[in-house]
Amino acid sequence: MVDLSGRKALVTGGGRGIGKAIALELAAEGAMVAVNYRERAEAAEEVVASIEDEGGRAFPVQADVTDFEAVQAMVKSIVAEFDSLDILVNNAGIIGDSYLMMLKPESWREVIAVSLDGAFHCTKAAIRPMMRGRWGRIVNISSAAGLMGDVMRAHYAAAKAGVLGLTRTTARELAGQGITCNAVAPGIIETDLIAGMDEKRAEKMLRMIPMKRFGAPEDVAPTVAWLCSDAASYLTGQTICVDGGLKM
Ligand code: NAD
Repeated sequence: MVDLSGRKALVTGGGRGIGKAIALELAAEGAMVAVNYRERAEAAEEVVASIEDEGGRAFPVQADVTDFEAVQAMVKSIVAEFDSLDILVNNAGIIGDSYLMMLKPESWREVIAVSLDGAFHCTKAAIRPMMRGRWGRIVNISSAAGLMGDVMRAHYAAAKAGVLGLTRTTARELAGQGITCNAVAPGIIETDLIAGMDEKRAEKMLRMIPMKRFGAPEDVAPTVAWLCSDAASYLTGQTICVDGGLKM
């Protein structure tokens, strides 16, 4: 059902965590993958090496997604390498913990800049090559926090809710061009992002999850790959929660 042979993909923040699992999954389904990183080139190079070891094609691309010029240059380099760009996964994101009363405006802007500005920058840069090919898939990684809110994470929840508005508008504007745009909203996934979560909070969250376990990056990646396939061609503007039943 999921055949991405010949498709060219960009995964932002693809060097670790959920982004890494998505890059590996897209490659396993036949896509060529540009693995974006901001600073840790070695991590992205390791993902590329794993893909190449399995006979796939990939390359690492540096860009801070908060920097629109850098994103434009990154997309240009991908099109130069792959000839086109068909799939964009806006995965890069950061988190922060602070009650609203204490939340610093600069932390607010930083979190919004990566998740929301970053998704906008990459989408804006990627849609031109997708329109040329009259086919495209954009998958935005939102979060259960964007749907439910999250204590101490007003900036994160706002950014992830904003991503859903961007998703629906992108979906509406590009539906006639063969380009779909959907969001995946993971629940709690065990990655570096949440590694510092205190035990009490973790126990409380676990009680809220009907499946009684946190997810793994590999729980998220197949849904993203499916959304990128022809099997999902009549689906756009949707949000799929991959969260063990947390938000239902
Ligand atoms: P992670 O911290 O392991 O990965 C985030 C990636 O984004 C890293 O590779 C990081 O280098 C990259 N990144 C951060 N800022 C960047 C920038 N300015 N430019 C380019 N890359 C940048 O975290 P993760 O858990 O794998 O998160 C991946 C996505 O999933 C994020 O958008 C996150 O908000 C979302 N998400 C995670 C969870 C969870 O519980 N882990 C839940 C819901 C949503």
